[in-house]
Amino acid sequence: MTDRENALLAAVPNQLFIGGAWVDATGGTTFAVHDPATGQVVREVADATPDDGIRALDSAVAAQESWAATAPRARSEILRRAWELVQERAEDLALLMTVEMGKPLVEARGEVAYGGEFLRWFSEEAVRVHGRYGSNPEGTGQMIVSQHPVGPSYFITPWNFPFAMATRKIAPALAAGCTTVLKPAEATPLTSLFFAQLLAEAGLPAGVVNVVTTTSASRISAPLIADPRLRKLSFTGSTGVGRKLIAQAADTVLRVSMELGGNAPFVIFDDADLDKAVEGALAAKFRNIGQACTAANRFIVHERIAEEFAERITARVAAMRIGRGTEEGVTIGPLIDDDAVAKAAELVADAAARGAVVRTGGTRIDRPGSFYEPTVLTGVATGSAILREEIFGPVLAITTFTTEDEAVRLANDTEYGLVSYVYTRDLARGHRMIDRLETGMMGLNVGVVSNAAAPFGGVKQSGVGREGGFEGIHEYLATKYTLIPND
Ligand code: NAP
Repeated sequence: MTDRENALLAAVPNQLFIGGAWVDATGGTTFAVHDPATGQVVREVADATPDDGIRALDSAVAAQESWAATAPRARSEILRRAWELVQERAEDLALLMTVEMGKPLVEARGEVAYGGEFLRWFSEEAVRVHGRYGSNPEGTGQMIVSQHPVGPSYFITPWNFPFAMATRKIAPALAAGCTTVLKPAEATPLTSLFFAQLLAEAGLPAGVVNVVTTTSASRISAPLIADPRLRKLSFTGSTGVGRKLIAQAADTVLRVSMELGGNAPFVIFDDADLDKAVEGALAAKFRNIGQACTAANRFIVHERIAEEFAERITARVAAMRIGRGTEEGVTIGPLIDDDAVAKAAELVADAAARGAVVRTGGTRIDRPGSFYEPTVLTGVATGSAILREEIFGPVLAITTFTTEDEAVRLANDTEYGLVSYVYTRDLARGHRMIDRLETGMMGLNVGVVSNAAAPFGGVKQSGVGREGGFEGIHEYLATKYTLIPND
């Protein structure tokens, strides 16, 4: 680690953030955060107990009434100030993410920009929450439809986008007038702690955002979800954990937003601009070392152009620079841990055993840290696990199709429905794909779709609810209808 990294890490808070104060976990226990590029411990942070989780909820509940009563303009200005502070501290935030999560620094900077945008977007939305007013059809009374903060909200976020997954929930909740408890992933708690400090600097009142870092995700979460004072759960993570949380939330009929797993198809028709398709494929597959819910999982390529696409993409992938994310020119950093490496290796072995050809990569890299070679597979057979499961690693798997109907059938042949990518020069076909592909989002001739101004979210088992866009703030608002008779 460099002197700059050591100084930055030493300055990041490592306690729980509850009621506007930095406090130790009950019993003073801590856990280690690692750099996945080296396996080294970079910082110890507080390991919250279930009691600490409840203390955080107590504090969110205590702050709810006054935060909801705070003028929307005042809430908006705190969010705007937080966005400004993120710009000022962008390099620190990016470096911190690279150290604790492993993504290349250039991508970490991208995440700071993207994640920061939620603060700016929702600072603008905070003052634009409107209802409706009108006569009832009978003409006997007036109907008012108004919007109100849903109340204290609990957020569980994953390690793959430690900053953006937090801002995508916190910013709309604060804009709507809700207080919050955030539980980041065990692997990447530092980014959230750093961000909490920026929110406090931006003038956020005590208790409005609380952060509990822990090694006991389920033990902390269950009592919070069961507590009737909690009014909203928003989770980003795997579909398996999402299912369990939905079941727990049923007991209190808790409102939920679920941003779950994906298995994105990347369909290339034979009329596509292949230069653009190759660039889009690299972005959709290898961003975040393949560890994105939006990562292209299945490349479904027209048989007439499949070999040319495979040759071109293989040449580009074989030339990728692998290393610690802080090194110049690195595009492939480490995976989050050794289990992720083992999973990628297992999926590649299964595909190869069923006849796929490994065009490049296909092995674990022999160096400290959790590295797996960027890999291209062709001729991936139906039934291969890699076509069903989220890969969450740098492996690009190609299958082929002949007709448009076959492409649609293959693309939709999954329980997931987060995002799809389609490359075609035919506008009418593009529109047909918007209708026919069962996903919450689509990139038409583009490999990255995320934008704070857009409603992000999935259909089928990729989740419920939307984050970002005009829709995002409504996840934190409850609609109330009032009838006033005319006489
Ligand atoms: P994960 O294992 O589901 O964990 C996500 C979060 O849930 C972490 O904070 C984790 O804590 C916590 N958690 C795990 N088990 C829990 C339980 N029983 N009760 C309460 N909390 C629990 O997912 P991950 O491996 O971190 O993230 C990758 C997954 O997230 C992928 O499936 C990806 O597609 C999905 N994802 C979806 C989106 C989207 O917007 N749709 C965005 C990003 C990622 P610990 O880590 O401390 O165990």
